[in-house]
Amino acid sequence: MPSASWQSDEGLNFCPRCAGPLVPREIERRMRPRCERCGFIWYQDPKVAAGTLPVMDDGSLVLVRRAIQPQRGCWTYPGGFMDRGETAPGAAVRETREECLLEVEPTGLLGVYSYATSITVVVVYAARVTGGTLAAGPECLEARAFAVSELPWEDLAFSSTRDVLNDYLRREGGAP
Ligand SMILES: [Zn+2]
Repeated sequence: MPSASWQSDEGLNFCPRCAGPLVPREIERRMRPRCERCGFIWYQDPKVAAGTLPVMDDGSLVLVRRAIQPQRGCWTYPGGFMDRGETAPGAAVRETREECLLEVEPTGLLGVYSYATSITVVVVYAARVTGGTLAAGPECLEARAFAVSELPWEDLAFSSTRDVLNDYLRREGGAP
């Protein structure tokens, strides 16, 4: 998952179209930054991320330990922001390759995770491992397969990490 700069609502002070000042105005029932000069409205849409929960042949689950903020040092499933032109499963597979060097094939949608306190919407797939060798990519301190009984519940990075694991375990019939 990428860094925190986009999590701030302060973000832009100047119009990306004409460099005029952006000023908060009530537009369509919400305060939205609008350019005083050209009328451009900055709609602060959610960001879409995609990830996988890779399942090894022995049933263990792959998590990565983040090397970057937010939540540096904590564990989560491999994932990150989608680029335009990608599909959600395509982005999930790419992010998994980048973060833990595994080739995976999505086997089903685990869920779509959104929270009122976060601007990110995450699409997460269960996945089977088809290749590669498990190791940490540049944005991770560590990549590891955990037996279900050894999952690091006390050191999870995000609400969605906990929800993804719970949803997977519920689906597989093993209570956490
Ligand atoms: Zn403008």
